[in-house]
Amino acid sequence: MTLFYSDVFVLPLPAHHRFPMGKYLRLRERLLASGEFVDNDFRVPEAASDAEITRAHCPQYLRRVATGELDGAEIRAIGFPWSERMVERSRRSSGATLAAAREALTRGWSANLAGGTHHAFRDRGEGFCVFNDAAITARAMQSEAGLKRVSVIDCDVHQGNGTASIFAGDDSVFTFSIHGARNFPFAKETSDLDIELDDGTGDDEYLWHLERGLDETLERSRPQLAIYLAGADPYEDDRLGRLKLTKRGLARRDRMVLGALAARRVPVAIAMAGGYARDIEDSIEIHANTLQIAREVWGDS
Ligand SMILES: [Zn+2]
Repeated sequence: MTLFYSDVFVLPLPAHHRFPMGKYLRLRERLLASGEFVDNDFRVPEAASDAEITRAHCPQYLRRVATGELDGAEIRAIGFPWSERMVERSRRSSGATLAAAREALTRGWSANLAGGTHHAFRDRGEGFCVFNDAAITARAMQSEAGLKRVSVIDCDVHQGNGTASIFAGDDSVFTFSIHGARNFPFAKETSDLDIELDDGTGDDEYLWHLERGLDETLERSRPQLAIYLAGADPYEDDRLGRLKLTKRGLARRDRMVLGALAARRVPVAIAMAGGYARDIEDSIEIHANTLQIAREVWGDS
């Protein structure tokens, strides 16, 4: 098994910035410490190339990100100060989801230990997202593997607005997002399937809706590849989320999504997406559980 990480590409952030940059390295360390994963399971991906990025983003946007020409409002919307390391990290993180998809097509599943940058639009970024890794990956797999149908299953607590926008009117990529109705983004886009949940929604209600959403997604899109955004931020003690899932509920979610895909032999590339728990170790534990569950469900392929 190979999982892809980009935690060695750390971008410089001011003190007290609310993005938990340290969580990615700690996730990899936690997986190693569990004894269920070894060093050889982890690999640094290639950076996504200009050609790969511009299948999902407009060339002018890529150029302006790469050369640091974004204006103040665009930088504020992204939420990271511009630096060359920010650009490199964004390319590597997209490259990690892309590499995970290639791996999944031969071995059933793989994961990016970061990624899930679903608020990036074709020509702009927001909410800590510069390039849309799922969109870049779906387009690459269509181009290089000839896939006709890809599903993005987005279980981050925030709507996958950038992904929905990039694939609006495109029947080849089905976008499903299940999220908090009152969570960011406040003006939502239209996915192929959106399920909006009230503040405080707990495990059972969430899973009831998810099961129906998954059935509809798989029935309507019959995907040859799924990209699963396994956000840890629907967690009850998340600083940014408005839902109230427990760790056990999130593990049931992962088992439901990954089990449904495995039962239909749909390969899956997993991205971690958000996770901002008051105690960041909780987010790390939830992400680690996702990967352990994936391995259980698919076997050590
Ligand atoms: Zn999120």
